[in-house]
Amino acid sequence: MREKKPPVAWIRPAVKALTAYHLEPRDVAVKLDQNENNRGVPERVREELIEALKQAPLHRYPSPSQAEILGTLSEMSGWPKEGILVGNGSDELLHCLAESFLEPGRKAVAPTPSFFVYAYTTRLVGAQAVEVPLRDMQYDVGAFLAAIEEHEPAVVYLCSPNNPTGSVLEPRDIATIAERAPGVVALDEAYWEFAGENARPLLDDHPNLILFRTFSKALALAGLRLGYLLTAPELVAEMRKAQQPYPLNRVTIEAARVAAAHGGLLRERASEIARDRDRLCQRMRTFERLLGRGVLVRDVSSHRELPEMLRVAIGTFEENEAFYRALRQILEDGR
Ligand code: PMP
Repeated sequence: MREKKPPVAWIRPAVKALTAYHLEPRDVAVKLDQNENNRGVPERVREELIEALKQAPLHRYPSPSQAEILGTLSEMSGWPKEGILVGNGSDELLHCLAESFLEPGRKAVAPTPSFFVYAYTTRLVGAQAVEVPLRDMQYDVGAFLAAIEEHEPAVVYLCSPNNPTGSVLEPRDIATIAERAPGVVALDEAYWEFAGENARPLLDDHPNLILFRTFSKALALAGLRLGYLLTAPELVAEMRKAQQPYPLNRVTIEAARVAAAHGGLLRERASEIARDRDRLCQRMRTFERLLGRGVLVRDVSSHRELPEMLRVAIGTFEENEAFYRALRQILEDGR
């Protein structure tokens, strides 16, 4: 019989205090729980990737200089490759950020609700997470500036568009926060393509700003695990030390090159998602606003043949009038 017990008591208290990330796998027809790109990878891109993998020297380590992938990302982002750090998903880069800037006695300011990894990695390394609530699902910039002044955080996390609220920060608010923050501002732009705007123009004048990007969302490659960040080369040189020597595998590197070559096509598919989102929101708004005026109709848009449709029963003369007036008002308001 085993005499010794596993030394769980030696696990660091900061680790023990965390709750592990866990998602119950479910077999469902419509999977909408992980912000994946359900359009998937276009066949043409997939075929090219398979061809590229046939040639790839899988018995060799990836290039330690990462020259190829950094060149690709530099071209994509218009930022020098010395200012780019790649990781196994932006998740890994968020861990690297915490390892590089946070430790016991230091603080990070983060929005709430937001992506859980900011507070998680802060606590993992023994630092303190100060959470600033959104107000009516919008960023409260004044509250962020007050928290920065009070806590002097080593890291300020921002997420725009925010997961899970979609809240967007104006460039001038990001700039103000970066100007007031004593340490770094980590701006997670995982979903920037769906908002159509990013903070890349702010990088030149804000050397404490770090932009986190990913191939997982608009580019539909969550399974590959490829994230990157853009910031001052001086910060990249230090943060690289907190990473393993080969953060990306060769398959991911090959795929990134192929995906980048089809960036236009992939981004166009992301724009389709944004258009579908707007249509869905519009439909939900009409439905809700009718309900808000005391008129209940049936949303039948789940039928493929009836996109954007509501089903309306013919009621009494007065009820029909009430429905017609409510609908006309909503349509006029929405103009
Ligand atoms: N940031 C945000 C805001 C996210 O929602 C996610 C994924 N859910 C990530 C980062 C992680 O992305 P990646 O797949 O690049 O690790």
